[in-house]
Amino acid sequence: MSTFKAPKGTYDLIPPYSAKYLAVRDAISGPLRLSGYGYVETPGFEDVDLFARGVGESTDIVTKEMYTLTTKGGANLALRPEGTASVLRAALEANLHKAGGLPVKLWYSGSYYRYERPQKGRYRHFSQVGAEAIGAEDPALDAELIILADQAYRTLGLRNFRILLNSLGDKECRPVYREALQAFLGGLDLDEETVRRAEINPLRVLDDKRAEVQKQLVGAPMLRDYLCDACKAYHEEVRALITAAGVAFEDDEKLVRGLDYYTRTTFEFVHDGLGSQSAVGGGGRYDGLSEMIGGPALPSVGWALGVDRTVLALEAEGVELDIPPATSVFAVALGEAKPVLFGLVTELRKAGVAADISYGGKGLKGAMKDANRSGARFAIVAGDRDLAEGVVQLKDMESGEQSPVTVTDVVALLRTKLA
Ligand code: AMP
Repeated sequence: MSTFKAPKGTYDLIPPYSAKYLAVRDAISGPLRLSGYGYVETPGFEDVDLFARGVGESTDIVTKEMYTLTTKGGANLALRPEGTASVLRAALEANLHKAGGLPVKLWYSGSYYRYERPQKGRYRHFSQVGAEAIGAEDPALDAELIILADQAYRTLGLRNFRILLNSLGDKECRPVYREALQAFLGGLDLDEETVRRAEINPLRVLDDKRAEVQKQLVGAPMLRDYLCDACKAYHEEVRALITAAGVAFEDDEKLVRGLDYYTRTTFEFVHDGLGSQSAVGGGGRYDGLSEMIGGPALPSVGWALGVDRTVLALEAEGVELDIPPATSVFAVALGEAKPVLFGLVTELRKAGVAADISYGGKGLKGAMKDANRSGARFAIVAGDRDLAEGVVQLKDMESGEQSPVTVTDVVALLRTKLA
């Protein structure tokens, strides 16, 4: 072990476990790539004000959880705590919204950083795959994203997750509701911090998980009763489209989520096998965000799914992903056979066959151990006598059967056998 350890709240992804993460990222991005979403990659850090303005000055993410730094040049930066603000910033900067038809559909995958109290499923460095559809107000877009996330989870084999759905209203109806809720909260017995939260963002109080707060919230005015006709109609259409796609969801009128920018549709994917950190993903519509960060009006919708928690959810359900062994053919060279087998391995790799060879001048026993450990389906073994005869021994690692194959035929034969 070295003197150093991974920083608190972080962990390393190490083979073979790390293969699960790649598979999860592929499974989540697969449906997006088939639905017109283009890949976007943004820096790991941004101007701190992008998040302060975009995510919200009163959110936990901005007030408590951001990793901020001042550069030698005096710029105030933050490691990105979430993806949406960065992706929208990048789209605006590249004028993607002017380049062609709207919406601009983008997907991304990467690392995010939040200075949170670490626990199972909650880390200071974590990984998300996200999608944003920028510049269109259309219930079908909200529905599309929810359906694609559902499809991704189902393709992975997840079953015990639920989709919670709500509408947060828009700039017409939410302020009216906000006032009614504030009046209600003003009559409750709340601690100082919660009173402050009720002043800045009263909706977030609904999200408070503490029983003593929840108890007092019985009878609180509900946004559902304040939605304007346009928001109501929009929400009904989203619900109808998801239902028609056969995707089950639950209406959750208390779902507000922790970011300020959401309007209308909000949703969360929760998994019941994860304990307190049960949200595996979430998202919603953010019609005002573009203007908040200095852009034009661009109604948009998106989600981010957590890769770490998705892997935990798979484990909680006992789902084994079908991950093929990293190596299909393993070469064991004895005596002077190394250059010939090394050449064969290179040829196999060029032909798209996952191949490896034993290194370090091991004898037959040690090299066969490597072959076993690699999980390869076949081994090719050769020593001086085989080469003198122009053959290698092809060993089926499952049956243990072994037979000589002409050196010039072995690549083609292995390709057929593995096809
Ligand atoms: P949020 O932006 O908070 O809605 O997060 C979206 C998803 O990212 C969540 O549903 C989680 O799966 C994941 N996530 C957020 N924060 C963390 C964290 N600290 N550790 C691990 N996963 C996280």
